[in-house]
Amino acid sequence: MKIRAVRGMNDILPEEARSWHRVEASFRGVAELFGFGEVRTPIIEDTALFSKQIGETSDVVEKEMYSFRRHDNELTVRPEGTAGAARAYVEHAMWGKESVSRWYYIGAMFRGERPAKGRYRQFHQAGCELYGDAGPVADAEMIELCVRVLASLSITDIKVHLNSLGSGSAHDGEANVGTRARYKAALLDYLQPRSLELSEDSQRRLEKNPLRILDSKDPRDQAIAAGAPSILDVLSSEDSEHFDGVQRSLTALGIPFVVDPRLVRGLDYYTRTLFEIKAEGADLGSQSTVCGGGRYDNMVESLGGPKTPAIGFAMGLERLLIAHRAATTATNDTSFKPVVYIASLKPEAGDPAAGLDVALSLARELRDRGVRCDIDSRDAKLKAMLRRADASKARLCVIVGDEEIATNQLTVKDLANKAQEKLPRAEAAQWIAARLATPPGSSAEEAK
Ligand code: ATP
Ligand code: MG
Repeated sequence: MKIRAVRGMNDILPEEARSWHRVEASFRGVAELFGFGEVRTPIIEDTALFSKQIGETSDVVEKEMYSFRRHDNELTVRPEGTAGAARAYVEHAMWGKESVSRWYYIGAMFRGERPAKGRYRQFHQAGCELYGDAGPVADAEMIELCVRVLASLSITDIKVHLNSLGSGSAHDGEANVGTRARYKAALLDYLQPRSLELSEDSQRRLEKNPLRILDSKDPRDQAIAAGAPSILDVLSSEDSEHFDGVQRSLTALGIPFVVDPRLVRGLDYYTRTLFEIKAEGADLGSQSTVCGGGRYDNMVESLGGPKTPAIGFAMGLERLLIAHRAATTATNDTSFKPVVYIASLKPEAGDPAAGLDVALSLARELRDRGVRCDIDSRDAKLKAMLRRADASKARLCVIVGDEEIATNQLTVKDLANKAQEKLPRAEAAQWIAARLATPPGSSAEEAK
């Protein structure tokens, strides 16, 4: 039996990895522009970190975590990045070092969910976390950061969905009877008489966590959720004021958005602002959410730090790549292309490796000058080598054959216009580098 990659986990081969670098570089560039610095936390954390922060009744904790026991510890391969970052923030007592911390991360996450296009068991997220700023401007700027990342990848057909959950998150306990608790009660009043029409999962969670039902992907739940009361009607005046501030800041930044009172998202730790960005044009179906985030003003405290406001988001890199490809019509060919193809022919007589020595030293001189080159020393006739040189899309082909070796020269062929030159071996690298500095197709004379 052949061993294959684990279902829902993908290899990224070099050609595709080049597109990943492009996406990651865009993200890093924008994050750095906003003053964020990279944090790298372990991929494995204590299971309790996730079950407590993400919530026992969330899909992620209930059925998607890769958890195991080792050395008497209950461990989990991280399903998301926010909890681990906050754990590190507390562990390093960052509040004592700076009043505001801006962190970003890029890395693999693991969730055992049902694979589909844009939904995998190992996937990658790039995210930002901002600690220490409670104001609504911070929320708007985080959204602006996301929009800029998307724009830098030509993903402009987007919709920003915005909501507020008020203060008092699920792990605040009963002591904090905030907006959340009042909304939970209102929602229960609405859902209880309709409980038999809900999915089995939702029926089970009705008492414990009715908000979760609004985030369900089951069509039965979605039909009922559509008529549910709006959380915005029960926001406290402070929460309302904050939410108004976010909207006002977004407008000032010129970012269109829709207020979506049914937006709750799957993780329990959120407070106040919640947002999602959907890529409309990418044919991603129910995987169209490329970015999700929100405030989590209680997490740092619940991990043993001082009360510290925080906001973050994560973008799904696989989904960004799909949307990026859909948005860029040009065949953005990022594959490796040599610029110079060195055809090293097998000598008819004499030292069988003489040509190879020449090819290798030329390649070294070219790479010293930053020129990408390939050596072809596979046993073949000149005609076949030239065919392969054409197929490689190189600009120049250098021929190292018997005659070249005998005269200490090299033949350089322009693969676009087929013009051919003979050059002294010692001057070849210099000549080629100068030639490459001129636009393709210009005459060989100009380079001299
Ligand atoms: P969804 O509703 O699509 O399941 P989510 O609410 O579970 O997403 P988050 O936990 O907020 O997503 O993660 C943020 C982003 O990470 C998502 O918007 C998505 O782009 C990406 N993402 C989440 N889960 C996966 C997955 N299994 N495969 C690929 N990308 C994912
Ligand atoms: Mg999910």
